[in-house]
Amino acid sequence: MKSAQRPPPRVWRRLGTWREDRQLRRLSISAGDWQRALGDWSVYRRYSELERCWLHEAALRLLLRKHFVGVDGLEISDAIRLRIAGMAVVPVLGLGLDWYDGWQTLILYDGPFVANHSWQDEYGIVHQETSERSGEAWEHGPIVLSLRDVLDADQHDGYNVVIHELAHTLDMRSASANGAPPLHSGMDAVAWKRDLSAAWDDLARRAELGERLPVDSYALEDPAEFFAVLSETFFESPRSLQSAWPAVYGHLVAFYRQDPLALT
Ligand SMILES: [Zn+2]
Repeated sequence: MKSAQRPPPRVWRRLGTWREDRQLRRLSISAGDWQRALGDWSVYRRYSELERCWLHEAALRLLLRKHFVGVDGLEISDAIRLRIAGMAVVPVLGLGLDWYDGWQTLILYDGPFVANHSWQDEYGIVHQETSERSGEAWEHGPIVLSLRDVLDADQHDGYNVVIHELAHTLDMRSASANGAPPLHSGMDAVAWKRDLSAAWDDLARRAELGERLPVDSYALEDPAEFFAVLSETFFESPRSLQSAWPAVYGHLVAFYRQDPLALT
């Protein structure tokens, strides 16, 4: 969702960038550090050497701009910081890091955490709900992640909690978390809605028939989850998404300004 805060004056932004460039030059992260942090991740391995350099720089800038906080005394090692930041910047490699300006803090739990939420039904009755989560994203932050699930990314086909939660933050930059992030000029919003709705209906039909699904059935929770799960699958298992719903894959290529299949 759009931030209510006004952007800082240009001169501050220039100063911020200059200071960040200086901090960036002082960091010494070796190729081995990156390899230990991300070397087992298929999405990272797919990028060329040059693209990995862009990813490294974006990840370090993200670490300079955001606060990573461990809960219950959880120590966040440098390797974990690099891993999370490296995964987090993948969705914005073609968009720019300022797409994450709406949040500042990332909170890390050791394992799944219990979230308490209240919601109001159509009759105005407020319901309390408690559920175990592997991740959560709020409109102006924080991002909340379970470290165990971060480490599990790439163990299950198409699953990546970091990309999932960060996709929610992109979605929230439009009017609300509704499965429709702000589209770039030249993108067709009507075609986006039509093709994602058709994919939703197809997924619901396949789930009901008990067929093998191209994306996690959690996508059917609501349109926001649908977009987040599509985004995970787009980066983690692009072929399965492209073969199930080529038009949806094409919309995500246009939105993310990346084509994961062209890299394989
Ligand atoms: Zn979600």
